Amino acid sequence: MFRDKMVRFFVGRNGVDQLGKATMWLSLILMLATMFTHSAVVYLIALAMLGYSYFRMMSRNISKRYLENQRYLQITDRIRPTLNRIENGIQSFVRNMSDRAAARKYYRFYKCPGCKQKLRVPKGHGKIEITCRRCSAKFIRKS
Ligand SMILES: [Zn+2]
Repeated sequence: MFRDKMVRFFVGRNGVDQLGKATMWLSLILMLATMFTHSAVVYLIALAMLGYSYFRMMSRNISKRYLENQRYLQITDRIRPTLNRIENGIQSFVRNMSDRAAARKYYRFYKCPGCKQKLRVPKGHGKIEITCRRCSAKFIRKS
């Protein structure tokens, strides 16, 4: 449902292209920078970047936006592999963090007192004896 609405909404509009993604990242980074620098100028540039991203996303002048995007791709041709690597890094970091948050609901994590191996035990079984899967040391913890 929501997807259909989104698709219909973006018909005839430019949507998010590579330049759009880049300007969104840039505005996000500048927003973060504002928190540290407390600079009104940085904040305004961040807002302008965000506004520009939305403008390009909603724009119906697709051919003009396409040319802008092509120019952006040309200019960043050399550094794009690096940019992509950074983006993938951030994405997998975020995914990792949310996976861990989900895992903490159902599991407890302990370090083996013998070999420091990280061990995962399901929650809610009271005190249990845990056997380290690496060094076979046994220890008792709350699950
Ligand atoms: Zn161990």
